[in-house]
Amino acid sequence: MARKENYVVSNMNVESVLSMKGGKGEDSYDNNSKMQEQHARSVLHLLMEALDGVRLSSAAAGAFVVADLGCSSGRNAINTMEFMINHLTEHYTVAAEEPPEFSAFFCDLPSNDFNTLFQLLPPSDGSSGSYFTAGVAGSFYRRLFPAKSVDFFYSAFSLHWLSQIPKEVMEKGSAAYNEGRVTIHGAKEGTVNAYKKQFQSDLVSFLRSRSKELKPGGSMFLMLLGRTSPDPEDQGAWILTFSACYQDAWNDLVQEGLISSEKRDTFNIPIYTPSLEEFKEVVERDGAFIINKLQLFHGGSALIIDDPNDAVEISRAYVSLCRSLTGGLVDAHIGDQLGHELFSRLLSRAVAQAKELMDLFQLVHIVASLTLA
Ligand code: SAH
Repeated sequence: MARKENYVVSNMNVESVLSMKGGKGEDSYDNNSKMQEQHARSVLHLLMEALDGVRLSSAAAGAFVVADLGCSSGRNAINTMEFMINHLTEHYTVAAEEPPEFSAFFCDLPSNDFNTLFQLLPPSDGSSGSYFTAGVAGSFYRRLFPAKSVDFFYSAFSLHWLSQIPKEVMEKGSAAYNEGRVTIHGAKEGTVNAYKKQFQSDLVSFLRSRSKELKPGGSMFLMLLGRTSPDPEDQGAWILTFSACYQDAWNDLVQEGLISSEKRDTFNIPIYTPSLEEFKEVVERDGAFIINKLQLFHGGSALIIDDPNDAVEISRAYVSLCRSLTGGLVDAHIGDQLGHELFSRLLSRAVAQAKELMDLFQLVHIVASLTLA
């Protein structure tokens, strides 16, 4: 295949191209989010605790508003929304109060496949346990709602996505240029610091926006990838495994003359995995929220498969997951034809490393329950 560089999206604009793969096909997010579903289920007791601490408004005060930030297009968002609304309804019943009507907002970037999500939603008839829904397209690093209009924010597996790749990370010759890597795991100090700064400023923007949008007494439950090492260059075993095969597959494309090394070097996955301390520091410095609970949660394997000894099944699951998460970014960077080549190289690389993938691809999450100060 001739080298094709004509679909360069220079300075990749993450917020306009990031999207989990929509639809219901093999590589879709809906089909590749069992891991997120399982991990979300294992922290339901913490979510319940957060919901139990919510200030109940009276039915006369209007709808109780819940918003999911980074809902994506699969069933997970709907299952969690139903769980939250049922739990809150019970909470009202126990308190011998009439439950209000519920309004549920599903929020994600404009490139998200909202249609698939909307088609999965149950119809609302205003009866107990039902809720009125709406989609909100925009970045959660900016304002999404009017001031003092939301009671509870939920966000799962989303806040580790940065709003952008720092410019200097993609500038050849800069001390932060991320040569030969798709993540910052093991990258040089300049690159790691640029990502860290981006994460900190993104999180501050997130907190500022939410603190304006919450009603007094409102709260949030957040779950995002976290790391155990204090050193940001060590992003965790999962990202090491995730990036190793990925990197090899990009190198394959360079070696086969399909893309230039610059093209490879300027592909960066905009994920930053903070430590608990880093997360806490930003929340405390910002000061708008009180931390009720903050902990690391070992979620288990990112690959949910039937036979842990079947290298082909493991690698297929791995590639589908990578594609559901990063396919949109890859296509924006090199086009879908070369993207297809990349993922087929990734599959061969993964088969050879299936055992490591199975053993090391373990996720750690930060779970935080915060209330407006
Ligand atoms: N919460 C879902 C989906 C997680 S996938 C679940 O539990 O399964 C992460 C989602 O976050 C993606 O759909 C992605 O588009 C969204 N996302 C990433 N950055 C975002 C941003 N800045 N604003 C809004 N959504 C964002």
